[in-house]
Amino acid sequence: MDYVAISENQVTPLDAIEPGVLGLRIVFVNVFAVTHPDGSWTLIDAALPFSDGMIRRWAEKHFTASPNAIVLTHGHFDHVSAAGVLAEHWEVPIYAHPMEFPYLTGEWEYPAPNVGAGGGLMTLLSPVYPRGPVDLGGRLRPLAAGMSFAEMPGWQILHIPGHTPGHVSFFRPAGRGFRPNLHSTKQVSRLMIACACYSPIVRLMDWC
Ligand SMILES: [Zn+2]
Repeated sequence: MDYVAISENQVTPLDAIEPGVLGLRIVFVNVFAVTHPDGSWTLIDAALPFSDGMIRRWAEKHFTASPNAIVLTHGHFDHVSAAGVLAEHWEVPIYAHPMEFPYLTGEWEYPAPNVGAGGGLMTLLSPVYPRGPVDLGGRLRPLAAGMSFAEMPGWQILHIPGHTPGHVSFFRPAGRGFRPNLHSTKQVSRLMIACACYSPIVRLMDWC
């Protein structure tokens, strides 16, 4: 794929989403950093081709250490394209739902998009986007829905197929789960990180 430059004015920090959650919007997609009580953090999604430098600079502003993992909501190119380069640089695993694995190991490509469905800029432009194959190699690890995930303590993995077969979202119940420093804890609201394409953060204040 030919190099495509992304200008800095197409990059928007989303620094105060919720306690323990930062974001970065790159053109039309978002990545998130989820921080944990022990000071570690996890990168959710890995954006567009050639965005690895932007994600690294943003991460280095906020954290002194590498993330404990890169976790993918799904395997579309606008969520995975910097994952391989970043994982090699940070020497961390990449987690995704097993049903996304064929799209992330170079076996399958996603079907061609239906330009008549859904509407919006992404749908209209989707025929020109690369669909794969993507191969994340030996760094790929299976993400088990419904089970506790050691790299994201306090979060639940929800398998929500539809957008893709192995699409996942992340749910954090309310509680005193986030510790901004070693001396205090902070009450946090229920929070969902859904597909980072649209309405990426869903606050579930009235949901039970
Ligand atoms: Zn997608």
